[in-house]
Amino acid sequence: MPSFANLFGRELDLTHRYAVFGQPIAHSLSPRIHALFGAQLGIAVDYRAIEAGRDDFAAALAAFARDGGVGANVTLPLKQDALALCRAASDRARRSGSVNTLLRDGDGWRGDSTDGIGFLHDLRERHGFDPRQRRVLLIGAGGAARAVAAALVDAGVHDLVVANRTRERIADLVRRLASDCVFGCELDKIDQLHDRYDLIVNATSLGHGDDAFELPRRLLGRDTLCYDLSYDRAARPFLDWAAAAGASRACDGLGMLVEQAAESFSLWFGQRPDARAVLAALRAA
Ligand code: NAP
Repeated sequence: MPSFANLFGRELDLTHRYAVFGQPIAHSLSPRIHALFGAQLGIAVDYRAIEAGRDDFAAALAAFARDGGVGANVTLPLKQDALALCRAASDRARRSGSVNTLLRDGDGWRGDSTDGIGFLHDLRERHGFDPRQRRVLLIGAGGAARAVAAALVDAGVHDLVVANRTRERIADLVRRLASDCVFGCELDKIDQLHDRYDLIVNATSLGHGDDAFELPRRLLGRDTLCYDLSYDRAARPFLDWAAAAGASRACDGLGMLVEQAAESFSLWFGQRPDARAVLAALRAA
């Protein structure tokens, strides 16, 4: 017999389950983050990490729903597959071609993407960076880059150059955004860029491997913010480059991770937790 607690005038079913799906997933911080959010707001959240690859994600998600799953996050390499499995998706999810948040809706799933808004929250509130009328260089054109690019265009950047290794993905991203302030550049032709940028974002997964990160130093202005979407060891190559190139400001993507999680949490529970306190706890650990 499920037990119920009253939450903001709604019934919270304690048999409800939440999870993050991805591969690899063992080191995901999401279960910890959502446990801290729940503790903050007095909500008992059953949130676990479930390992699933592209071949078994659909079956794992169906089993999760049968087991009481009502909300999930989705990470590498499943965000595009998640969109395809949704019965409905938000505009921002469709525009970025990826879903990182699933909500159970009847006997199907609704998809959303909180990566872009999480990035903007961190950028504005933690780093004091207002993207309006700023010049941005975005390295990468995968799922995270698409979400971040759409958020930056909506926030009113002056121009956005998307540099990526694979040309087809640049063209796809530029076509999706359909904005005359977005330009593409192949990564191996980045030497041809001669502007300085206010913000340089690394949205590649290069840091998960052993490659070094290298960009021309002249792309940096006096006050450029260098922002890596990755965190921990994966952010090192870009942050090392930024330090060696003399960037005055550089940060990793841990703030974005917590902010996008806070957005997911508020979609599920109707209340936004305090991301600052949780980020401070993660940094302290
Ligand atoms: P993805 O869809 O697999 O895209 C990977 C991107 O990295 C592609 O643009 C790919 O280029 C590029 N890339 C990979 N290896 C490279 C290399 N050796 N040299 C140059 N480019 C390389 O991954 P994603 O989901 O966008 O994630 C990207 C990064 O963002 C990951 O590190 C992820 O952990 C991080 N992330 C952080 C958050 C957060 O909340 N902080 C959220 C989402 C993602 P090609 O197109 O040429 O293959």
